Parts: sequence; structure tokens; C-alpha cells
Amino acid sequence: MKIGVLALQGAYIEHMNKLEKLDIETKEIRYSRDLNDIDGIIIPGGESTSIGKLLIESNIKAKIYEVIKNGLPVWGTCAGMIILAKKIHDSNKTYIPLMDIEVVKNAYGRQLSSFTTNQKIKGLQNGFYPMVFIRAPYIKTTQNNVETLSIVDEKIVAAKQNKILVTSFHPELTDDLRMHQYFINMINNE
Ligand code: GLN
Repeated sequence: MKIGVLALQGAYIEHMNKLEKLDIETKEIRYSRDLNDIDGIIIPGGESTSIGKLLIESNIKAKIYEVIKNGLPVWGTCAGMIILAKKIHDSNKTYIPLMDIEVVKNAYGRQLSSFTTNQKIKGLQNGFYPMVFIRAPYIKTTQNNVETLSIVDEKIVAAKQNKILVTSFHPELTDDLRMHQYFINMINNE
């Protein structure tokens, strides 16, 4: 199995390090041609507006939309969740709008108010998980077959729709490998 990590901006190296700890081959995704031989892709946290601009400048946006639409498993973390949303609250921007969610950006305040909390995630081995939030978005509403996986302070922070997984928090910034394992299992259809 080989997992690509969108390497335009943000915390992509941290994701690659986690996957390598799980003996998964990784690949930095920067151009359309990089999308050919991967089994899944991670869109990392960072700054959604910058990632959005770079998707256009790198000429990769149409191809990445197409491969995910055609079923390539994807996991968006934090800014990556915003990138995949069909609707961004109070905005008419979208980036790779493939998931039936409406997200609210920067919902957890400024950088200073970033925090970690242990919360339950549905389907995760041993339940509780250390969630790191950094100016994180949350999911305001879901539609169709989106499955809610975790709720923190009455806000949806993890969800799944078919082969699209999103989390508001940053699993690449903890020592816990279970969320990366969850994505690998999802790719394996488990
Ligand atoms: N607030 C950022 C955005 O709007 C997301 C923050 C993050 O990825 N840590 O893109």
C-alpha cells in the first residue's frame, strides 16, 4: 500500500512520519502525475486558503477532484476538512467540494486558544483519542450518508462519507497512531 500526502503547504511531513511508523510507503503529492499510483491520499492541516491557491497554481485541482470522486480514499485533517467540504459557512468559496458537509472555519478561536482533549471516536480501537485542535473548523451540518464519528462540545469533529474521512483535529501531532491505522483500515475496506 502506498499513501500520498498532499505536499503543497501545511503539516504533510508529520503525516508521512506517522505512516512510515506503520510501515506504509508514502509519496509527496505536488503535481497531477503524482496521483497515479497511490491507494489513498491525505490532505493535511495548514491554511485552507493557501492550499486552495496552490491547488490552482500547481494545476492539480481538477485531477485530484476527479480521482477522489472516482473513489480514491481520502482523509482531510483540519484545513483538509475545509478543502473537502461542499459548503463553507458564510462563504461561497469551495475547493474540492466532494463531501456533504457544511463547515465553520476557525471555530476554536486564535492560535493561542488551541487545545488538546481526550474524546471518543466511533469505530476507533479502545475508544478515546487525544485530539489536538489548532484554529480548527467544525462540521455544522451533514447531509445524505455522512456518518458522524465524534462530537466535542456539541460540535461534530470527525465524520465519514463512503471513502472520505475528515477530522477537525491533528492526529499527525500526537504519538497516537490509531487514527492513521483507522484510515489504512478504511482503504483496506475493513
Ligand atoms: N484555520 C485553518 C484554515 O482555515 C485551519 C487550521 C489548521 O489546519 N490547523 O485553513
